[in-house]
Amino acid sequence: MLNVGKDGDGPAAAAGPVVLTSAARSVIITGAPTRRDFTPHGPFRVTAHRDGRGPLFANIRYLVSANDAAGFPPDSGREVAFAGRSNAGKSSAINRITNRKGLARTSKTPGRTQLVNFFDLGNDRRLVDLPGYGFARVPDRVRDHWRGLMQSYFEGRMSLAGLVLVVDVRRPLTDFDKQMLEWALSAGCPTRMLLTKADKVSRGAGAASLTKVRRHVGAMASAQLFSALKGTGADDAREWLAQTLDIS
Ligand code: GDP
Repeated sequence: MLNVGKDGDGPAAAAGPVVLTSAARSVIITGAPTRRDFTPHGPFRVTAHRDGRGPLFANIRYLVSANDAAGFPPDSGREVAFAGRSNAGKSSAINRITNRKGLARTSKTPGRTQLVNFFDLGNDRRLVDLPGYGFARVPDRVRDHWRGLMQSYFEGRMSLAGLVLVVDVRRPLTDFDKQMLEWALSAGCPTRMLLTKADKVSRGAGAASLTKVRRHVGAMASAQLFSALKGTGADDAREWLAQTLDIS
């Protein structure tokens, strides 16, 4: 079992392949658990979602923030969660993908940064902004609460259909990222890694980082380069979301 270090990315970060619990390994071997393999209700089919302007995000709106599982909205339909180490670029990625500049600012409102923030897409589909984590000197009680909140979310949320893990292309696969990957795998939840801030590195360095990440995560996740600033990879991310939410 991986432990998140004090600041979420100890010296072991990116040092070797991700080590899995037996539960996570069994998911790889047997495929995703059937609890997420349900037939979506209703003829909700869209094709145009490029640029974030199509029907996929047309009706997106802030729904609710929760401090514990009791505050989560009804567990029906499908949702995709976004996770990322603090400052990795998660809010910027959500804003770029949905083409809503202020959307994830909602999650940054004082008092909401440690909450699970839900956004409604309509037709029982949701995006979920999970609280960032990883700054040094976080009080133990805050870290413990975060861990409990994440565990209850990943273990209990039947509508969780996918995880987008936002990592800085220059510092991917911190211990925190590995912990998220493990929770997602244990929950049978497909994961897409966005290696963001790709505009900050050369094309060659970005490609090298992507290759390295893919080698490390193997079958645990798919990965792509992303830049919230330039829009690089945004359409690929939208395609993945549409498929995972079953609205492509
Ligand atoms: P969060 O804490 O993970 O939600 O991170 P933010 O989205 O607030 O981003 C943290 C910082 O990184 C901010 O100063 C952003 O402007 C910057 N940032 C985020 N994404 C990118 C990107 O793709 N390229 C560049 N150059 N800066 C980015």
